[in-house]
Amino acid sequence: MSARIIDGKAFAASLRTRVGRFAADFAAAAGRPAGLAVVLVGEDPASSVYVRSKERASVQANIAGSVHRLPATTTQDELLALVARLNADSGVDGILVQLPLPPQINTQAIIAAIDPNKDVDGFHPVNAGRLASGLHGFVPCTPLGCLMLLKDQLGSLSGLEAVVVGRSNIVGKPMAQLLLAESCTVTIAHSRTRDLPATVRRADIVVAAVGVPELIRGDWIRPGAIVIDVGINRIDLPDGGTKLVGDVAFDEAVEIAGAITPVPGGVGPMTIAVLLRNTIVAAHRNAGVALEKGAL
Ligand code: NDP
Repeated sequence: MSARIIDGKAFAASLRTRVGRFAADFAAAAGRPAGLAVVLVGEDPASSVYVRSKERASVQANIAGSVHRLPATTTQDELLALVARLNADSGVDGILVQLPLPPQINTQAIIAAIDPNKDVDGFHPVNAGRLASGLHGFVPCTPLGCLMLLKDQLGSLSGLEAVVVGRSNIVGKPMAQLLLAESCTVTIAHSRTRDLPATVRRADIVVAAVGVPELIRGDWIRPGAIVIDVGINRIDLPDGGTKLVGDVAFDEAVEIAGAITPVPGGVGPMTIAVLLRNTIVAAHRNAGVALEKGAL
């Protein structure tokens, strides 16, 4: 049996188109475009690529994107001062500080300084608390993207066994909260989990967010399970080239699973699409413009 391949690229493209339409309507209603401010400190190559993609995607979705590029020597106080200016700027609906930050800056202090109503990354403790309490708030983009793909595949998730491998604040923990809110029975596995293969074998839904190339093997997957692979790992090939792989051994898992996200082209494209979606939701809330419930 060969699993359905979940086309995150196509899903993300359709979400971005919808966001673009809502952004155009918002600009007409509010008399200004929705604004997303992205802050990049230093010149980490991967971060620079992500920031350029976010900039391009904002423009395509009718969102006014501004990028604030600061030198790697920026102090915490300088970054806090920029965040304070962006918090006070009524043309900015969403603020994203690209991580990781240089070592002289306390990441948690910066996240906590962002206005929770502009925290489109959903990392602020207030938004983490809202998610845990079942209240409206911003949900981190990658896990929300995974949930959208799961609901598209399955409709209701109620009663299903979900195993999330990884417990980071960015992916694993919010993913588990989202699945719990959908009435899944949720297990969070991590590096101290005693028998990871047996834990994963229980799952109707597996979300892998580990950062270890192809850790999860095909024979760990329950036949017919839905596998969402968040991992993005670049590995060296014998011919001297490199290749992107996920946290799941795709070639093995595709023979057993019911559906699976590929890497690349699965979860990856969803992250930016959901960032744009969160920005439009923020713009409507900040400007007091109504957004049809469940529209995005
Ligand atoms: P972190 O490094 O913050 O967390 C990794 C988690 O995996 C930890 O909870 C860790 O456990 C657990 N883990 C590590 N090794 C093992 C193991 N051998 N067995 C079981 N659990 C293990 O990573 P992130 O959550 O930030 O990212 C995870 C992956 O997702 C990465 O590949 C990253 O590149 C990718 N990613 C992709 C995104 C996208 O847009 N598609 C966005 C964000 C991340 P412990 O807590 O015990 O240390």
